[in-house]
Amino acid sequence: MTPTTPTSSSSPTPSVPFHDEAVMGFGMSVGGQAKVARPTTVEQVADVFAGLRRDGGSLALRGAGCSYGDASNNNHGRVLDLTAMNRILSFDSQTGIAQCEPGVTVRDLWRRSIASGYWPRVVSGTMAVSMGGAAAMNIHGKNNFALGSFGECVRSFELMTPAGEIVKCSRETEPELFHAAISGFGMLGCFTKLEIQTKRVYSGRLRVYGIVARDIEHNLEILEDMCGEADYLVSWVDLQAKGKSLGRGLMHRADQMKPGEDPDGLRYFDPSLQDVPPNLFGVVPKSWLWPGMWCAVHMKQVALVNWLKFRAGFREERHSPYLQTHGAFHFLLDYVPRWHWMTKPGGLIQFQPFIPKNEGARVLRTLIEMCQKSGHVPYLGVLKKHRPDPFLMTHAVDGYSMAMDIAVSKNKSRRESLWRLCQEMAEVVLAAGGRFYYAKDAVLLESSFARVHGDETTKKFRALKEKWDPQRMLQTDLSRRLGV
Ligand SMILES: Cc1cc2nc3c(=O)[nH]c(=O)nc-3n(C[C@H](O)[C@H](O)[C@H](O)COP(=O)(O)OP(=O)(O)OC[C@H]3O[C@@H](n4cnc5c(N)ncnc54)[C@H](O)[C@@H]3O)c2cc1C
Repeated sequence: MTPTTPTSSSSPTPSVPFHDEAVMGFGMSVGGQAKVARPTTVEQVADVFAGLRRDGGSLALRGAGCSYGDASNNNHGRVLDLTAMNRILSFDSQTGIAQCEPGVTVRDLWRRSIASGYWPRVVSGTMAVSMGGAAAMNIHGKNNFALGSFGECVRSFELMTPAGEIVKCSRETEPELFHAAISGFGMLGCFTKLEIQTKRVYSGRLRVYGIVARDIEHNLEILEDMCGEADYLVSWVDLQAKGKSLGRGLMHRADQMKPGEDPDGLRYFDPSLQDVPPNLFGVVPKSWLWPGMWCAVHMKQVALVNWLKFRAGFREERHSPYLQTHGAFHFLLDYVPRWHWMTKPGGLIQFQPFIPKNEGARVLRTLIEMCQKSGHVPYLGVLKKHRPDPFLMTHAVDGYSMAMDIAVSKNKSRRESLWRLCQEMAEVVLAAGGRFYYAKDAVLLESSFARVHGDETTKKFRALKEKWDPQRMLQTDLSRRLGV
């Protein structure tokens, strides 16, 4: 496919201005000052690339900024924030295929699709994520073991390379670039348009089961027992529990309804009934909740909160199954606006290792014990089951991941000891053949990059970077940290 260069209409495209701003990861623990621009058109993106080809400098592509670490930060460099390119160009209610600009969010997409009885095939734990960011990180949902990653529902995309050319990519056209740009963490070009396949749903609700897991082995056992039939599986894990309760938690299984099974559920195709409500019990604004959570974190009450949540799991198990909207099931974290502020002033990091199945129980047990011994105990653990995918820089394995959210201290030596702990845990994971997900990383060392992907894949990715971005214009704090 011959690349095309975007042409502006009759009048010249005004350049998009850059402004000085603080650009942080979602976890608020890494970031810095950068010059940020927000283009609204493809021509403006081309204009920014042209400026950098002429004047030099580095540019980070940024979606909604939901990566926890430094994946879309560029300290002292330039950042292209694509959130203003947020139009759904078309949605076909016969096929469920959407044409989107890169800044369209998961929320924009489901609000459009649910009205026609479709739901995105893969969604993250927050609906704020953009299509460009979702493709660049090849995000996964609670159904990764069944439907695979976000890239698997991308039919095609247009990528603007740093040369300012648009390359159309699909599984048939430019398949190498297709499989590398998805998962390529914004290193090869900028997605300017994506064609996304959504899936048919026959109700606006899911049938949900809560299942209490006694320990980490029991959690994994439930995942294996249920993965053949369940549509979604995810476990909240109490990482504070010790001894024979280590790794205990509450598994949630959710299944889609079959045609005709939930006639009442059709009214939940109304997008306003899917969205998370702004008030608790219809009265208390949920934006008031994070200060309470801040107290739990700072007054060392997390173990108590986890214990209460675990005990409440038995009640939920007794009342299962129950019906829940897709929105309520998937976007629990969006229920409490700005929940991550509870970790202020130091912020948080998330450490999410992907571990091969046969090493799952041993490695997860070891990691939890290492956290507990070090005193950096995650306040939240989320366990999922995964399957491999065909994308070059994939983080997926045939196995499990555990997302561990850890509060970061403002105290320098505490912060350094947390980074050291994560690097020691990374050694355990890499030695077991595990991988890491850069959307959740803030700590990996340069030496880990080739170990995560293997020498051959690393060489291939570097060759693609040389081909499509010879000037090494596209950089982030993450890419520099990993020596990409
Ligand atoms: C509360 C919460 C829950 C989450 N749950 C999950 C989950 O369940 N599963 C999961 O997989 N992830 C999850 N994430 C992580 C999130 O899905 C990823 O970080 C995702 O990449 C964020 O998308 P974004 O639009 O915010 O992109 P950003 O974080 O801004 O950027 C992510 C990457 O995409 C690149 N990029 C952005 N736009 C473009 C573009 N147009 N073209 C090329 N590259 C681009 C950036 O350079 C960067 O490397 C969660 C994050 C949060 C905050």
